Amino acid sequence: MELQQQVSQTLLTAASDKETRERGQREAAESKLKSAVAVLESKLEDTRVKLEAERLERTQTEYELKCTLAKLEKEELVRKAAEAELKITCSELEREREQREAAEKRVLDLQQQKHLAHHGACWQYEMDGHWHPFSPEGNQQMLQAYSAYIEDAQSNTANIVAGGVERIVDFAEMTQKHASTWKVRKIRIVAGVPQQWVSTPAALLTQRGKLASFYVEVTDARLIDWVTRLLRTTGHAWDASTACSQMKNATVKSVHRIENFQLWHRYRARLETMREDHAKYNVSVLPADLDLDGVEGTMGLSQPHLDCGEPLARDVDEKILLHGTSWQNADSIVMHGFDHRTCMRGMYGDGVYFAGAACKSHQYSCGAHSGKACNTCKCERTLIIARVALGDAYHASCTQYGARRPPNRSGAPGTHGSVVVNPGPISWHHSPTQVHQEFVVFDREQAYPAFVVQYLPP
Ligand SMILES: [Zn+2]
Ligand SMILES: [Zn+2]
Repeated sequence: MELQQQVSQTLLTAASDKETRERGQREAAESKLKSAVAVLESKLEDTRVKLEAERLERTQTEYELKCTLAKLEKEELVRKAAEAELKITCSELEREREQREAAEKRVLDLQQQKHLAHHGACWQYEMDGHWHPFSPEGNQQMLQAYSAYIEDAQSNTANIVAGGVERIVDFAEMTQKHASTWKVRKIRIVAGVPQQWVSTPAALLTQRGKLASFYVEVTDARLIDWVTRLLRTTGHAWDASTACSQMKNATVKSVHRIENFQLWHRYRARLETMREDHAKYNVSVLPADLDLDGVEGTMGLSQPHLDCGEPLARDVDEKILLHGTSWQNADSIVMHGFDHRTCMRGMYGDGVYFAGAACKSHQYSCGAHSGKACNTCKCERTLIIARVALGDAYHASCTQYGARRPPNRSGAPGTHGSVVVNPGPISWHHSPTQVHQEFVVFDREQAYPAFVVQYLPP
């Protein structure tokens, strides 16, 4: 029994020991697990912290990036605005430059025009792709040297000293050479004459009153056609009840363009004087009407076709008008210009008379009855187609026998530029109505004979 108890006690103790051992083992395992969990948790925490830090850093970077972008955008905007401003400034500058250049060119053109008007031909030299005029002093010497060269070409070269600089010009090569730098430039002479003139500057400079050198026969069929239309369709050519109607069947025999260099430049100089006078007294010019005695408007239509390529100047009311004369007298006009001192005395003063219709000028074109109106002779007749600068014309309402100049201006000092007589009632007129339109100038240089026409009445 005791043994049984002892065995049982031993078994019990053993069981208890086992239990204790097992608990210890379990507890150790649990503790190990706990510490492993703790390690893991700590690692997890570390990772979380690290991630958070990274997130913060990324956010910070993103923010910074955004700031930089915004800054860049702002800078871009500022740059664009600056660029736009720069562009505006540039275009303004460009415009200013263009305006300045245009103004300079105008001044230069004006100077040249003035120079040409007063001196005739103008010498120019080439620089930077542009032609520049010689100084007046240089131009004068060039003209003299060139005249000597074309009259008697013993030497192609001449020495020109102007503005303290000596240049050697070569008229055969058309160059000039600076005497000390040896720089060579091209030179040219500009005659300042209408575009359609065919005479060379050399020929123009040596005309010297040789009558044949002024007449250049016109072969352009369109131009001859315009002349024919002037003869046949201006004024009363349509009116069979009048003597004027014979013009309907007039035939053009020849047309000559008049290329008189000196006369042309005297005329141009006169136009300049008129302009100066208008500017000085603030005179405005109202262009006179044409074709008031005609029905077809031919005078008006023909104007640009008869300008020889030199547009008519509106500021001095330059017009293409007609002047009938004898062939013999035409030579004198071609050589020396119109001369009111040798003209028939007219109802509107002692000036040079022009018509706006061929039926009127025809009356004064009879060689046998020079100095009076003749509608009947069937001889060859002469018509001069002239450029006339009317300026500020006075419109006559009564006759002015013996007047030696146009009437005084009413609103400004000086006299009117010309006298214009329109068809209609005129005080003290013998008819007492003016039939044809007439234009009278009292300054012989206010008209230039552009063409001389020979024609036959039917
Ligand atoms: Zn008529
Ligand atoms: Zn006659």
